[in-house]
Amino acid sequence: MLKPQTKGLLLDTTRCIGCGACALACKERNKLPKTSDDVLKDELSDKTYSVVKQVGPRYVRRMCMHCVTPSCASACPVAALEKSAAGPVIYHESKCMGCRYCMIACPFGIPKYEWEKKAPLVRKCDLCADRLEKGLKTGCATACPTGATSFGDRDALIAEAKERFRANPGRYNEHIYGIEEVGGTSVLIISDGKAEELGYPAGLDGTAPAFLTWRVLNIIPDIVMTSAVLLGGIYWIRNRRDEVEAAEGSHHETPKEH
Ligand code: SF4
Ligand code: SF4
Ligand code: SF4
Repeated sequence: MLKPQTKGLLLDTTRCIGCGACALACKERNKLPKTSDDVLKDELSDKTYSVVKQVGPRYVRRMCMHCVTPSCASACPVAALEKSAAGPVIYHESKCMGCRYCMIACPFGIPKYEWEKKAPLVRKCDLCADRLEKGLKTGCATACPTGATSFGDRDALIAEAKERFRANPGRYNEHIYGIEEVGGTSVLIISDGKAEELGYPAGLDGTAPAFLTWRVLNIIPDIVMTSAVLLGGIYWIRNRRDEVEAAEGSHHETPKEH
């Protein structure tokens, strides 16, 4: 059961003007390079953790949903992804062995891989976990000028969404996406359109794909374990080679004069 103090975001497409301030603030907070001249044309990648897309008449954000029971974490054989008590699904890069099961498991296609790097890692939004620890809002919620991205306790955000429905009759399709979908998410979405009109997967029941992932893993444990062991071996060899190179490099350094 999700703790009441768990933090999250409420995304309201009826308030979004497509300014892209959230996506630009995300780049700044994560020290990511510019990847497009038009912020609305950006795509999620290892260099872009959050985008705003024009979908029909609406602007819609895409980012990690910070699932209550994340299938990315469930699929990871080395626990490199973890749902934290505060709400963010965080990534322990030192544990990651690059098998990319998380990318396959995520129902929203969020985790991206650093394909161009020699030692690639998985990249995605971490709900600004370091800012949350300091009592700050996420970078995107701070930058949003219209309240289309709001930060707070998940239960308070649900109450806020219901209040917006009550105060604006006929304005919303009165459904809070993320209360039930995939077993619940810490990022919630409200809109005047249905999920499929926003480009979000519709018809997801309350079963967390994490449980489905485990069922799949249980069916093919030998394949998974063999892959995990092999990849673990490759990872160990890669690290070992780096260690040896580093050690050899230090031997070859010119001794300092005293
Ligand atoms: S949206 Fe995908 S990457 Fe984010 S927590 Fe859920 S399963 Fe993991
Ligand atoms: S790439 Fe593999 S080890 Fe790394 S986080 Fe994804 S599933 Fe876990
Ligand atoms: S929560 Fe932080 S990392 Fe995630 S989209 Fe917003 S600014 Fe980016």
